[in-house]
Amino acid sequence: MTALGRTVGIIGAGIAGLACARTLAANAFDVKVFDKGRGVGGRTATRRAEPDLAFDHGAQYFTARDARLQKVTADWLSRGVVAEWLGCVVRLENGAVTHTSPQPRYVGVPGMTAMAADLASAIRVQTRTQIVAMSRGPSGWTIKTDAHENFGSFETVVVTLPAPQSAVFLQPHAFGAIASTLQMTPCWAVLVAFESKLEVPWDGAFVHNSPLSWVARNSSKPGRSGQSDCWVLHASPEWSAAHIEAAPDTAARLLLDAFSSAIAQQLPPDSHLTAHRWRHSHGSDADDRRMLFDPEVGLAVCGDWLAGGRVEGAFLSGVSAAEAICDSQGLKLGESGS
Ligand SMILES: Cc1cc2nc3c(=O)[nH]c(=O)nc-3n(C[C@H](O)[C@H](O)[C@H](O)COP(=O)(O)OP(=O)(O)OC[C@H]3O[C@@H](n4cnc5c(N)ncnc54)[C@H](O)[C@@H]3O)c2cc1C
Repeated sequence: MTALGRTVGIIGAGIAGLACARTLAANAFDVKVFDKGRGVGGRTATRRAEPDLAFDHGAQYFTARDARLQKVTADWLSRGVVAEWLGCVVRLENGAVTHTSPQPRYVGVPGMTAMAADLASAIRVQTRTQIVAMSRGPSGWTIKTDAHENFGSFETVVVTLPAPQSAVFLQPHAFGAIASTLQMTPCWAVLVAFESKLEVPWDGAFVHNSPLSWVARNSSKPGRSGQSDCWVLHASPEWSAAHIEAAPDTAARLLLDAFSSAIAQQLPPDSHLTAHRWRHSHGSDADDRRMLFDPEVGLAVCGDWLAGGRVEGAFLSGVSAAEAICDSQGLKLGESGS
């Protein structure tokens, strides 16, 4: 049974928001999550096109160094939510290929949204709902949507958007100033399927001295059998920033040319080619405040940008925010996001 006053509204159903929601729900909080997207997952995203094409155009894989994410990952592995990607990942520089140090790389099955879908499975999540404002009154927080709907009252609100978007919501609270000082870099992602298999002896590459920073054969990941030869190409932060307002078709063609140059090969004809612009792709690896919480007003902030970036940072940030909310109510955390 939910205790009176333990109502939490969470803005954003990415890994941070869902890890927070899941942990709070496991500790008898009444949680509701809102996301503007069609589905959950945020930057752990998979785009499908035609019956046999799929592209993880955001996060490519995740690593689990912290014991809390390792525990959840073990559970996901046992239930087939994720699998280890055993693809050959190399470093590619001026045509020279060198091998990277092996480490477990996990991917969602059949796409990178699988982890978010699993975290969201027992939680109230309202998608296609863009939040435009939030305000605190005597009975708690009210959240307002772009369709002029109001949700609340919530005792606590958790903001989990990328830093620049969070900053807008958090003003005039001091957390707004913190969020507005943290930069996030953009990333152009190209989603391309080839008519015939591209012959390279590896599945993913960190690319140097190129407009590209990463390329991967999406169809080499586990659980993607039957897919055509689908590739995801990520541009470097510098190239992405310099071409941020380019038309998607232009960005796609330029980056395809860069791919051909990086592997010194002509590419097979493409049967599908699109590009996606991530305006807020990565934060600073260095920032590790983990989360922000003001118990006086019931306001928490979490997201990858507060915890070293990446899926793991987002997860730990969300769990830490839940932990702080539990602590503020004198509760000992009963479950670590699993
Ligand atoms: C191109 C790219 C490659 C990456 N590669 C990797 C990788 O290989 N490995 C790795 O670990 N990480 C990688 N990352 C980073 C990883 O995806 C993120 O660190 C992580 O997914 C962030 O989770 P989050 O919950 O903090 O934020 P998000 O996933 O951004 O979640 C925020 C959510 O808020 C929602 N939202 C935004 N505004 C509103 C609003 N006004 N109202 C309602 N909802 C709103 C969004 O729709 C989104 O679902 C990559 C990211 C990108 C973009």
